[in-house]
Order: sequence, then structure tokens, then C-alpha cells
Amino acid sequence: MLQEVVEVIRKGDSSGNHMLIRLKLPSGLEIIGLPTENAYYGGEWDLGPTWNYMVLDDTPFLIDTGRYGMGRKLLDMMNAAGYSGTDLDFIVVSHGHEDHDGALDEMAKATGAKVKAHEIFDHLIRFYPEAAPSDFRRDFPASCWHCFMPETFSKKNCIEYHQARCHLEIEKIRYGDVRLSRNTQAYHVPGHSPDSLAVLVGEEILLVGDTILPDITPFPSQERSFLLVGKLLTPQYANAESIYGLRAYIKSLKKLRKIGSNYPNLIVLPAHRLFYNNHWNEIHLEKRIEELINHHLQRCGDILRILKQGPKTAREIAIEHFEESLLKGFGLLMAEREIISHCELLAASKDVISIEDSRFLATGRMNFEALIQGLEPEGNR
Ligand SMILES: [Zn+2]
Ligand SMILES: [Zn+2]
Repeated sequence: MLQEVVEVIRKGDSSGNHMLIRLKLPSGLEIIGLPTENAYYGGEWDLGPTWNYMVLDDTPFLIDTGRYGMGRKLLDMMNAAGYSGTDLDFIVVSHGHEDHDGALDEMAKATGAKVKAHEIFDHLIRFYPEAAPSDFRRDFPASCWHCFMPETFSKKNCIEYHQARCHLEIEKIRYGDVRLSRNTQAYHVPGHSPDSLAVLVGEEILLVGDTILPDITPFPSQERSFLLVGKLLTPQYANAESIYGLRAYIKSLKKLRKIGSNYPNLIVLPAHRLFYNNHWNEIHLEKRIEELINHHLQRCGDILRILKQGPKTAREIAIEHFEESLLKGFGLLMAEREIISHCELLAASKDVISIEDSRFLATGRMNFEALIQGLEPEGNR
């Protein structure tokens, strides 16, 4: 189905960089796919470019803007497809990661389009110097208080982007809201990020951001981040596990499965790897969600097996669990966080407990599977 509606306007490389595509759907809806390049610091965790999409609905909009500095490139691509930035009615942010909202300020200024994002995004892009967890974090918005990148990296690469982003005026998608325009609905699907959205266009298209990706499993966030930023959020978001971490993520997958069950012919457009290794990746929503949930079940089982040898830190588990190629550069820190997300779920199912020196101890129980299977999708927060 995907390949039947894709027209390649401009060929790119084997990962989809520099490509430009048009999707023409049976209803007449047209979508332009605008991939922008990414930088990678973490060994072989390559996601490929960020796929931003321009949706030519009766209120045309852009979802995501790629990395900081990508604005010019996006506008050029729009022009090459026969449109201009001023055709946009609004820009919606799938979630507040730099590969998605990096050029947001630049694009908002260049196009005059409104910016819509989840209300948690609006809270986390702001600065709260008196609440920051350390002196160094004072120079960064709340979204960065739990970042694992070293100070030298953040100071060099992130300050300009955050300074620009924090002044954005956001039309907030609030608790319970779904409608973005007549034909378009947003769903809050936290987990990969607390502010993640999925956007349904008519009955044909589901834009899933980083919540569902082909061939790779999106990183879940961590519940412990809530300890730092929870106090900044409105009372609807009072539970860590509703917006952060693996439990939130799995609930969101189940929510998307439920939405998808109403629209059997949906084309799912991910924010990475739509095209990769010279190959189009079509996502079968139900099947992919099943695979992702099974992946996390398996990883929880693997961690418990590793902990049978005795208590270990997340880093020790990561080194044992992941291939060496994934542990290069910042890969080790990413792998460690991935393990922490799983250990948080395993602690909730009482299969592990935290002990001294940041180690996890297996309790000998195996409740995680029942916990994961029992997680119910949450309403449209
Ligand atoms: Zn992301
Ligand atoms: Zn991403």
C-alpha cells in the first residue's frame, strides 16, 4: 500500500537522506515527505534522517522540523515540491527531541505558522533556574535536566537551540483535547517522551513520530525523570508512570493499537526509517505493536537472567546485554538508560529491587509479563 502511493520527487541516498517524496492518497490527500539529516554520537544507534511531513489537508500543516539549522533545507524542499512555507497553517511537534523540534523556531519565524504541541512540551522547553537540579542545568530548560550528555557537549551543542526554542509561543494541546483541525486529531502517546503525540489525518494516515519505528525499537524515557520535572507540570500529570518510562510507553502502544483497529487501511508514517537500506518500510500497525511489546518482554526476561548471577548496576547489565558495537561513544550511556527503563518496570512488578551502590537485585519473582499484559491504554491525556 505504501509503495503504491509514494512518488519519489528526488532520489536520495540509501538511508533516505536528501530524498523528497509525495504521497497521493485515495481520498486526494497529499503528503510531502521531507527527510532531514541527523548527527550521531552513539556508536551504531543510527536512526537515519528525521522524516518531517507536510500534510496538504484543508488546513495544511507540517509535522516536525528536523534538527537545529535545518529550516532553510526544509523550505527549499517544500519549494521543490511546489509549495512554500506560507502555505502552512500550523506546525505540530511530535515530541520535544532536537531531531524533531530543532528548527522549530526558525520555521515558525520563516512561515508565520502557528506552533501546536502538547502542553507538557510547553512546560519543558522553559527555563526554571531556581528549580534546576544543579548550577550547570540552570542554563538549560527542564527538558534537559535529565540529559546524560556531559556538560562540555551540551554547552557546545545545545545552548543556542534551547535559547531559541524557549521563546516559542505554543498553542497547547491540552489534557483531553484531540482536534488539531477539521480532519486531524492528535493523541497523547507518552513514553518515548512525555510530550509525544500521534496525529491521525482522516481515516488514512497515522503520523507516529518516534513512538513506532520500523526495524528499531524506540527508546523509552525513564520514570525517574519525573522526580525532577513533575513539580512543573499541571496536576493532571501527577503520576510518573503515566507520562514517563516503559509502562507509559506500552500503554501508549496499546492506545495506538486501539485507534488503529477503527481504521483498517491506515498508512503509518514514522519519523525515522520510512526508507532505509534502499528499502521502503511499511508498518503494519497491529503487527509492529505486537513486535515492540514482545521485544520489551524479552528484554525484561534477559535482564532477570543476567541478574541471576548476582546484583548488578544498569551499566554492568548493559555491557553484558548489548553488542559491543552499540556501546561505543555515547552508546554506553544510551544503553544504560535503556536498561534503567526496564529495571523501573521490573521494580514495579517486584521482580527486582534497588539496593546500595545503584545495583539491582533480582527477587526471584517473574511478574513482569503479567504486569505488561495487564497495562491498559490511558485516555487522551
Ligand atoms: Zn525522539
Ligand atoms: Zn527521533
